[in-house]
Amino acid sequence: MNFIKTIIGSNPDFQKAIPTNVPYLEIAEFFYDTIQGEGINLGQPAAFLRVQHCTQNCWWCDTKEVWRSGNPYTFDELFDMMDDTDLVKKLKSGQHLILTGGSPMKQQKGLTLFLEAFKKRYGFRPYTEIENECTLMPTPEFTSLIDVWNNSPKLKHSGNPDSLRYRPDIIRHLSGLNNAWFKFVVAQHEDWDEIEASFLQPGLIKREQIILMPLGGTREGLHRIRETVVEIAIRETVRYSSREHIELWDKKTGV
Ligand code: SF4
Repeated sequence: MNFIKTIIGSNPDFQKAIPTNVPYLEIAEFFYDTIQGEGINLGQPAAFLRVQHCTQNCWWCDTKEVWRSGNPYTFDELFDMMDDTDLVKKLKSGQHLILTGGSPMKQQKGLTLFLEAFKKRYGFRPYTEIENECTLMPTPEFTSLIDVWNNSPKLKHSGNPDSLRYRPDIIRHLSGLNNAWFKFVVAQHEDWDEIEASFLQPGLIKREQIILMPLGGTREGLHRIRETVVEIAIRETVRYSSREHIELWDKKTGV
């Protein structure tokens, strides 16, 4: 897909030094002129800023090899790289900026400063979505800069310890924010029972915020389970989302 443009490509071998006394972000990859592949804004033209590091270690994570590598970049370095492209023009014309990872919440302080510095430099704030594993509480400052919360709490089948992956207080708080959605990765019929028992029955989230997605990091994997997930979504009157980037590009990253 040669229309997708890269600001920072995934590069496991390149190791930059951590900058001193200036804010920076640890970034795994940064690309634009692609689409949001899943969730409530599926199909929306978008730029992806993928940060390093995560709070989880889902066995089926399809970006682990990417977010485990990366480098620190100062804001000046990032702005210089962006100015060599038409990214800012695209963001101004409505392309969404999607903060993803790994865990953007692990770098919410740096991302808050970066989004504020962006506005100061370019005179507008990009429409910003975040992909969130729901284990860290957002600050009011960061919350005010996010337009869409693509929350994705991890179920038991992710393989993460319960105490690390399931934070009811944080999930309840996120549910009360504007434009908050909860995408659940579903692998089997029983996953709905867990969503109901751990999220709906305790009143942590609302049914209308739920989006079900099939588990699968490959096209073949998605196709194995997607009919089951559609069936659950129809039975329970919740949304279904495909993972369109995988349908389009299969296992490829940076798209
Ligand atoms: S939370 Fe997301 S990025 Fe982190 S390991 Fe799980 S699937 Fe991967």
